[in-house]
Amino acid sequence: MIPLAAPYIAGNEWRYIKECLDSGWVSSVGKYVDRFEADIARHVGAKYAVATVNGTSALHIALIVCGIKPDDEVIVPTLTFIAPANAVRYVGAWPLFIDIEPAYLQLSVPKLEEFFQNSCKWKGGQLINKKSGRNIRAILPVHHLGHPVDMRPLKRLALKYHLKIIEDATEALGAEYRGKKTSTLGEIGCFSFNGNKIITTGGGGMIVTNDARLASKAKYLTTQAKKSGDEYIHTEIGYNYRLTNLQAAMGCAQLEKLPQYIESKRRIARVYGENLNGVPGVKIMAEADWARSIFWMYTILLDQSRFGRSSRELKQLLKQKGIQTRPLWQPLNRSAVFPGQKHEKCPNALRAYRDALSLPSSVNLKNSDILMICQLIKKAVRD
Ligand SMILES: *Cc1c(COP(=O)(O)O)cnc(C)c1O
Repeated sequence: MIPLAAPYIAGNEWRYIKECLDSGWVSSVGKYVDRFEADIARHVGAKYAVATVNGTSALHIALIVCGIKPDDEVIVPTLTFIAPANAVRYVGAWPLFIDIEPAYLQLSVPKLEEFFQNSCKWKGGQLINKKSGRNIRAILPVHHLGHPVDMRPLKRLALKYHLKIIEDATEALGAEYRGKKTSTLGEIGCFSFNGNKIITTGGGGMIVTNDARLASKAKYLTTQAKKSGDEYIHTEIGYNYRLTNLQAAMGCAQLEKLPQYIESKRRIARVYGENLNGVPGVKIMAEADWARSIFWMYTILLDQSRFGRSSRELKQLLKQKGIQTRPLWQPLNRSAVFPGQKHEKCPNALRAYRDALSLPSSVNLKNSDILMICQLIKKAVRD
């Protein structure tokens, strides 16, 4: 059985976690929490980092500290894992779904610009969605599958319309856009250390920013909004979104290996690409010349008319051979979770949902296994 993405644990994890156990510092305070925050901040080149219990809570807090309020609207790509859209609802705001571009499956900046021009108005220093009458306050780009969104034109739009940028970099730790790490390209960025992400703490998350005010507000809100000092005095509602020292210890050990993990993901992408290139109906994964992708999850697109089978049929065939694969997410403009909203049409996302299949991408996946998987895919062609 070859899994889609299994954690790889082969460094200082045991040593660091044992140190927590031996010292008794197992809970939400401890040197590894501080160290993990500092290490992540250094790695991405941000001034501040705040650890959280998972990536979804990081997004929730990021939206609050950026001032997103009930009935605001936030731009979210329609093709994404649902977490960022849920986080927008947690603050009472509404996700506004925009299509992806077909080359890298990221939020389409041209389509977003077209939407702003045709369906919004600028009034009193506010961008207003003409259909809903609500204020659009922020853009939440998701760097899918390890590849960055085209941030330069996106930032131009954000600047023009006074919108905050909250990056969901949960699938793209270490990925670069024009030499800068994802998560540092807007006001604030979020990471996840769930078991299937490039590094894992079992479960965990992180907020990064260069803004001291946003960072201290985030730390305050993730720790029950307690005023500093020994007295338990609160003036607003907070959250218990803390990461434990045990989890942070694992994170420190995992982060030490991140450069190797990225090399490995890039090797996996190269070998898949070399062996699947030219197979009828198979579109291999691309990397923009302004990007350095971490190829978190290697994903092909199948043209059924040329390949002779649908992505779901291929998924079944591979499953019978013990190979785990996965389709991408149902486009959220089609989701029952967000009904009744006048979402934009999103044909690219719909096509990707139909055609995409993510292939095994674990960091320790062997080249011989990739070759075997590629052989099976080639044999499945039915022309
Ligand atoms: C994994 C992921 C998250 C959040 O993950 P958690 O499981 O809450 O840590 C958020 N957004 C995207 C796009 C993800 O892939």
